[in-house]
Amino acid sequence: MERQFTKEIESLRLGNGETFHGEGILAVTKALLQSGVSYVGGYQGAPVSHLLDVMVQARDYLDELGVHVEACASEAGAAAMLGASVNYPARGAVTWKSIVGTNIASDALSYLSSSGVMGGTLIVCGEDYGEGASVALERTHAIAMKSSMWMLDPRPNLGTIVEMVERGFELSEASNTPVMMELRIRACHVRGSFVSKQNVSPAISSRRKLEGPPAEFIYDRLAHPPAIFRQEKLKSDVRLPAARRFIAEHRLNEAFPGDAGEIGIVVQGGLYNSLLRALRVQGLADDFGGCRIPILALNVVYPLVPEEIVSFSKDKKAILVVEEGQPEFIEQEIATILRRAEAPAKLHGKDMLLMAGEYTTEVLVRGVSSFVAKHASRLDVSPGKRWLEGISATRRKAGELLGSMPARPPNFCVGCPERPVFSAMKLVGQDIGKPHVSMDIGCHAFASFEPFSQGNTVLGYGMSLAAAAGVGPMSQRRPVAVMGDGGFWHNGLLSGVASRLLNHGDGVLVVMKNGYASATGTQELISSPTEEARRTAIGGGAVHADRRIEDALTGMGVKWLRTVDNYRVSEVAKTYKEAMTSDYKGLKVIVAEGECQLERQRRLRPEVNAILSRGERHVRVKYGVDEDTCTGDHSCIRLSGCPTLTVKDNPDPLRRDPVATVIDGCVGCGLCGENAHAAILCPSFYRAEVVQNPNAWDRLVSSVRSFFQ
Ligand code: SF4
Ligand code: SF4
Repeated sequence: MERQFTKEIESLRLGNGETFHGEGILAVTKALLQSGVSYVGGYQGAPVSHLLDVMVQARDYLDELGVHVEACASEAGAAAMLGASVNYPARGAVTWKSIVGTNIASDALSYLSSSGVMGGTLIVCGEDYGEGASVALERTHAIAMKSSMWMLDPRPNLGTIVEMVERGFELSEASNTPVMMELRIRACHVRGSFVSKQNVSPAISSRRKLEGPPAEFIYDRLAHPPAIFRQEKLKSDVRLPAARRFIAEHRLNEAFPGDAGEIGIVVQGGLYNSLLRALRVQGLADDFGGCRIPILALNVVYPLVPEEIVSFSKDKKAILVVEEGQPEFIEQEIATILRRAEAPAKLHGKDMLLMAGEYTTEVLVRGVSSFVAKHASRLDVSPGKRWLEGISATRRKAGELLGSMPARPPNFCVGCPERPVFSAMKLVGQDIGKPHVSMDIGCHAFASFEPFSQGNTVLGYGMSLAAAAGVGPMSQRRPVAVMGDGGFWHNGLLSGVASRLLNHGDGVLVVMKNGYASATGTQELISSPTEEARRTAIGGGAVHADRRIEDALTGMGVKWLRTVDNYRVSEVAKTYKEAMTSDYKGLKVIVAEGECQLERQRRLRPEVNAILSRGERHVRVKYGVDEDTCTGDHSCIRLSGCPTLTVKDNPDPLRRDPVATVIDGCVGCGLCGENAHAAILCPSFYRAEVVQNPNAWDRLVSSVRSFFQ
């Protein structure tokens, strides 16, 4: 990972009374250290990647404190790490992207929550729900409920987030239960400040080691029969009441007053800022958090404290529950609480707000307006109505002016090594017919969009080969599974490769060996290029010195295995066609090798800048299109989709079709030339060398050339 978090690491060292400035997710990182955490693990994924990235880069400092950090191979491994807190009073935290990560971790989480914990455990989940989401939309809340783990959802305010981390550990210890914390995308990236405290060196740590396992063997700490029967009872009879007591006594939920006391709003803490914004638009709140409607912000969304809900609803005609996503777990629980208490307040929620999808300001303004109009008509909601009319008018006008806008699907980076593989697959598909392509999580999933349109399913990280297992036997043509090296190590090797070998299944697996878990921020894998290989690559050499993927495959018994250089489209196409048509019945694996271009450019840019600032000669390769030769049929674009290969007006007044052109930003990956050759396109592409800081010879050659032009 080339991104350096030097500044962020410095802020982790802040002591008592100093002010921390930064993002929500970094505040969590600092709060973990302030809480005396002994170990931290996790698996990268937006929006919580930075937590682990910063911790990994801050290893030296964490060693000083005695905090162990582990970049786990999967979320399941991270969850299992929390086992260290079952028998020992050591605090531990793990992090991942949810819902995917929580699904993967849920086996270990079930066992952990059954055993219960002695040391506080905190699971920081990036709640990837809403308009910026990149995975299936589901709520982590469901997993917390089914395993009887508590769920924090802090108000997006750095002080509150930090307090919830610290209280989360205490809550976990007071109730012997793991605690989850959901942080939406906006909460992770909200900026602010808080007054920091000194970090705490944990009492049990890599510096202060345990002498051995507990002196007394306690069978009840194993999630195994017969202990599980008692543990199941403990969850409801002991741990839940203890948690509710702690939440009430320490006032983890916040009640905000308002003069319109006949109504009230109960909101998930994480949505508090969005709600305030919606109320502000309606003239019911000010810029400083003052609000006319009383609000109960649930920083703990599970479990609820019945007394708090009943007390908040007292003397109110109606309350509105603002809860994002489906189903309405909180609203249902509140309905039960109010009914049992025979509380008279009417309950609204999903009847006035959307059942599914993100609660944007617009959604909230509509919902809150209906609620206020029904139960507090003395409040003027006309500013909200005018705001909504303004939005509708802007939309209408934009539609009239712009018409229907073309879709802008996500795309690979300029020069991405995965693009040439899909060019080759597309070419072969035109030749032998399109196969079923099972996609995986990762950058290669962009090939599901135009111009490749390859990818019939995405069923989880490292699951593509497994997802093709049922398709193969009922298809004339071999199914193809595409998987990144991140997915391969995470799950694909066992769930896909081992299962296929065990079942003697046929099929083709393409492993994109780009060297990193690129889609989540280019974190390193066990097959990432070594420092030495990276240095060699600066000079243009091969970057992947290791053959761990190939060795693992061979070791497991894969007999048909080829490694290809992604950018050699003709060779990739030849190998892929061979895999698709070979008489060999069994798993055929193509390891497609090409370093992630994003990572490569991050490494090259400072190198090149240094060369240029020293005034030294540097040659940059760029591709271009000869506009006189370009036929204007754009086959090259349909085969590549590179954002820097685009169109421009035809300079020939006698021809109307726009011509292809390569704009600034081309990194000279060579795909344009390779595609032209492999697909026998028009000979309009040329390769140019842009010489920066030319020497005397360059100048002489240039003048001779100019003379003859
Ligand atoms: S991050 Fe790397 S692998 Fe992903 S699209 Fe960009 S260049 Fe390709
Ligand atoms: S050579 Fe072609 S595909 Fe590669 S970066 Fe340049 S324009 Fe894009």
